[in-house]
Amino acid sequence: MKTIRVAIDGPSGAGKSTLARAVAGRLGYLYVDTGAIYRTVGYYAHTHGLDPKDGAAVSAALPGITVEMAYGEDGLQHMLLNGEDVTAAIRLPEISLCASAVSAHPAVRAFLLEMQRKLAREHDVIMDGRDIGTVVLPDAEVKIFLTASTEARARRRCLELEGRGTPQPYEEVLREIQERDWNDTHRDTAPLRQAEDAVLLDTTDLGFQESEAALLAIIAERTGGA
Ligand code: C5P
Repeated sequence: MKTIRVAIDGPSGAGKSTLARAVAGRLGYLYVDTGAIYRTVGYYAHTHGLDPKDGAAVSAALPGITVEMAYGEDGLQHMLLNGEDVTAAIRLPEISLCASAVSAHPAVRAFLLEMQRKLAREHDVIMDGRDIGTVVLPDAEVKIFLTASTEARARRRCLELEGRGTPQPYEEVLREIQERDWNDTHRDTAPLRQAEDAVLLDTTDLGFQESEAALLAIIAERTGGA
């Protein structure tokens, strides 16, 4: 079966996951949040006393790590780390920078690559991340680079954290987003960048519904309305 693959890349807090999940629901595609798999490895490092920046230590731990994605009856993507459901734990604010640090190591990226490609071979997918259009699915039917100003992204992240019951001051969130942006765009392996054939969508001045409509229009255009 030939699957349809929609790759959505962009910086932290651009609204990728909320929008991708909504659009996947409308189109009946599987939504794959690849940030969650890096968060799972970051969570492992955090809870096992490993420095997430220490590439040798994190790489040496990989053979003892099993990362699985399971789609629950609730329709949500659950993350399993060595069989334990860590879906909620990986969203804790302190895991974000750990995820960003471990994701810079080539061995970690190689370790997680095939599970992402396998999902896209088996399902029509909307996959979001940092390197989906450039590395994971370079021949995806649709590639979108979703972004927004740093300030708009920090404001949205603050609201999201508040909603989760883990509020953080705006200045702190802004600094963390800037640090993750820097890490994600400056690493040697699979840095965050817009693929040449990706459509740029800047949501700074767009509300949720306008952004969703814009995404659906790009997908319809690129897939011939399929
Ligand atoms: O998307 P999310 O913010 O949950 O991702 C957490 C971290 O995982 C990002 O800051 C980024 O460093 C890393 N990541 C990545 N490649 C992806 C998805 C996420 O390097 N495809």
